[in-house]
Amino acid sequence: MRVVIAQMKHETNTYSPVPTPLSRFAVGGGVPPEGPAAHAAYRGTGSAIGAFIELAEAAGADIEIPIAANAWPSGPVEDAAFEHIAGRICGAVARGCDAVLLDLHGAMVTQTYEDGEGELLRRLRAIDAEVPIGVALDMHTNFYPAIAEHATAIAGYQTYPHVDMDGTGARAGRAIFALLAGRAHPAMAWGNRPMLPHVMRQGSDDSPNRELQARCREMEAQGALCASVFVGFPNADIANAGLSAVVVTDGDDALARRWCDELLEMAWRARDAFVYVLEALETSMARARALVAAAAPGSGPVVLLDHCDNCASGGTMDTMTVLGAMLDAGLEDAAAFAIFDPDAVQQMIAAGVGASVTLALGGKFDMPSIGLSGEPRTVTGRVKLICDGRYRNRGPMARGEVNDMGPTAVLDTGKVEIVVISNHVEPHDLAAFVAVGIDPRAKRYLMLKSRVHWRAGLRDLAGGVVECAGTGVCTSDYARLDFKRVRRPIFPLDPL
Ligand SMILES: [Zn+2]
Repeated sequence: MRVVIAQMKHETNTYSPVPTPLSRFAVGGGVPPEGPAAHAAYRGTGSAIGAFIELAEAAGADIEIPIAANAWPSGPVEDAAFEHIAGRICGAVARGCDAVLLDLHGAMVTQTYEDGEGELLRRLRAIDAEVPIGVALDMHTNFYPAIAEHATAIAGYQTYPHVDMDGTGARAGRAIFALLAGRAHPAMAWGNRPMLPHVMRQGSDDSPNRELQARCREMEAQGALCASVFVGFPNADIANAGLSAVVVTDGDDALARRWCDELLEMAWRARDAFVYVLEALETSMARARALVAAAAPGSGPVVLLDHCDNCASGGTMDTMTVLGAMLDAGLEDAAAFAIFDPDAVQQMIAAGVGASVTLALGGKFDMPSIGLSGEPRTVTGRVKLICDGRYRNRGPMARGEVNDMGPTAVLDTGKVEIVVISNHVEPHDLAAFVAVGIDPRAKRYLMLKSRVHWRAGLRDLAGGVVECAGTGVCTSDYARLDFKRVRRPIFPLDPL
């Protein structure tokens, strides 16, 4: 038995000015790994592709991994990058195989295609009309009909933060191996509702997504092969952005339809609870100070979430609004993770550890989609540390995967330790802090450019959480986004 296993993951923020060339799909740049290098990078990790490898090895299959391509979210994927990745996967399937297992995101927009995943699957079906195709998708999938039309079985993450990526790969993969063994015949139904849940209200530990995902797991316990609700990714101005669901049963089309509709109705009834209400930044800063003043010793830092500039939602990770407010407020004993500014890192490397420097920090990206120019902030401090920025996730999210922040420096203002990085990474793992010599538990304030994923590895150390509305292209304020292509009417942009 020959199985083709591949990965093509990108969540596209169509408002993001951050470019997406092929090199963004490889850790630290270059070309995404293929064959044995891809196998070595992902075998045994907490990823969907890792689970596919494990299942295929257990089945005694010959495995080909034509490519494992995973990029941090950013603007539309360059056509050349998509053609390279899709070309590798299509080439492997064209050589003939018994099954295809794909670790995809579900919200990829390319320069040419609104539905990158649908286009890949369409091409694969043109090569082989019959081969079973199992697909693992991110919960932030913006679902298009071509995905369901051409895939054989689909499973989506059931957690946000995404700590079940490997479990999701296992759910999709098991359905395909059951089909190959003649033990199951996947029947699939999908649908969507005209609603754009706010990312800040999508956490699966919070209502209403908690109940939606619990019902998916219950359906699987009742016999569904896979049941998934996708909360969607709203910072993408494309027709099918928003909430959807897909259910796979064993040969029962009517049951798949009924269960899928039940999930969609549940979500639609809860639409008001998916609306996020922003707090003014001054109010957030005052609240953070009050929390620290009232905190018991050793209770852990108050986390300041700079949720409008999260690189894992396509943010530039260099807006200075929230960090600037912290500096203006004179907050002490703080750490900030992180500001993306390769030039500033190079200046600190040139100055050397221990040197005092004054930098025009951050604000290098203009954001024409939301009418903002980049605004660097002049910051003076001591270069505390310089490192290569590589670390391996401890988990639970993306356990075992390597991250590469590129050349990295810590700028200590005397009050705030600012991590400055050269490649985008979201802080969701303690290893990111260990790599730069910061113990976040010992800080009074911890600024994170993150929305929900920080909870995966850092929630347990937080003494309090304050969501800070700064600026950026992953803004949580829909009024800042000029939606032109998303289907209308859609809630909450329109009254429904
Ligand atoms: Zn996601």
